[in-house]
Amino acid sequence: MTSQLAGFYNLNLEDRLNELKRNSELTEEEIQLLRHSINALGFELSNRMVENVVSCFSLPLGIALNFKINGTERIIPMAIEEPSVIAGASKAAKLALPKGFTAKASEQIMIGQIQLVNVKNFQKAKKAILKNKKNILKLANAQDKTLIQAGGGAKNIEVREVKGKQAFLVIHLLVDVRDAMGANAINTMCEAISSKLEELSGGEARLRILTNLAIHRIVEAKAIWKKEVIGKENINKILQVYYFADADIFRATTNNKGIMNGVDAVVIATGNDFRATEAACHAYASLSGQYKPLAKYSKNKNGDLVGEIELPLALGIVGGATRTHPLAKVCLKLMKIKSAKELSEIVACVGLAQNFAAIYALATEGIQRGHMKLHANNIAVLAGAKPNEIKRVSEKMVKEGNVKADRAKEILRELRKNKRK
Ligand code: NAD
Repeated sequence: MTSQLAGFYNLNLEDRLNELKRNSELTEEEIQLLRHSINALGFELSNRMVENVVSCFSLPLGIALNFKINGTERIIPMAIEEPSVIAGASKAAKLALPKGFTAKASEQIMIGQIQLVNVKNFQKAKKAILKNKKNILKLANAQDKTLIQAGGGAKNIEVREVKGKQAFLVIHLLVDVRDAMGANAINTMCEAISSKLEELSGGEARLRILTNLAIHRIVEAKAIWKKEVIGKENINKILQVYYFADADIFRATTNNKGIMNGVDAVVIATGNDFRATEAACHAYASLSGQYKPLAKYSKNKNGDLVGEIELPLALGIVGGATRTHPLAKVCLKLMKIKSAKELSEIVACVGLAQNFAAIYALATEGIQRGHMKLHANNIAVLAGAKPNEIKRVSEKMVKEGNVKADRAKEILRELRKNKRK
């Protein structure tokens, strides 16, 4: 058995699966499962998307209902493996009706970074670079005619000094990426302008890549949950849960994880990069120097609960997998998305809804009750229940309020014993 399978990338699917069988303990049945699961996208497409493909990994795709955003109703696809997330978002959206959510995205400006090392005179280099701003922007914009035609392109340059174990001059290239996530566009531009920057600074360009901290690509969303709908007392309880997250990083982390449950599910369903989104949102949460909750809550003069969220979302509706993944295309169409701005507005609303759903449950009945049914199904499967046994085992556990693997095994044994009788 070896992990060094030379030339693996050259093989077709069958030969790859044979190699895998020879070099693992997978049974023929398990290899067959890999072979069948490739059908989700097909070998050709998957193999064009990533390297060394042997199968496709599926996630459930559900739809969140009841969302009204800026006056328009939207059916929102969510790809996620965790129970209760989609139900939570749908419930929060329903409780926010009839007005629903409002949301507004900023311009779609991303930042590319070029690190210059061995610069002798920072002031002189900074001056020379800023003096040549126009030429540098022109050079950057020559790299992506399509982006320029779409109304985007490199717009500005900023020069920073970054001091750590060494001191560097760091150039920020600000690019309007329009409807793309923008990573490839920016990376290409950064590489293209680096020799000009070396020439102007007398230094050497080292790293040239975008930053995922998209501070100029911010989306804001808001909703009001009326006291007549969610209860006056519950609003005070929700605020207490929020104040806890605002003051404590341990709570804020889990609070923001809940927000990302919603955000990531839509990001994945639309073929966008959820790792980039995660990195950006968590960095943004700590921009003040203290890690904070990404959504805020307050009471308005009517005594209703106001929820507001602010996220740095770099999402595309062109580029990456957004157009190559067939289901991503369907999901974008389902939401009637016309621009990247619109997508980020929807995603921010789902993030806010998800957070509201979680803290509403946590402040009142706790999250386990609503969670129990699907959780019980998973526990039943874990205990070895066959498809025709899952429902009976999980229902019994929920009824008893005892959802545990040990109990699931006992119920299974009883069930099978009775059947044999
Ligand atoms: P891309 O390069 O596939 O497509 C973007 C291009 O589409 C633009 O550069 C432009 O030429 C063209 N385009 C056509 N119509 C457009 C419009 N209306 N608006 C804007 N552009 C339009 O994709 P990308 O968005 O540059 O990069 C996204 C991919 O890069 C993702 O798959 C991501 O995972 C990956 N990536 C991410 C990182 C990171 O996050 N750090 C780093 C490298 C790569």
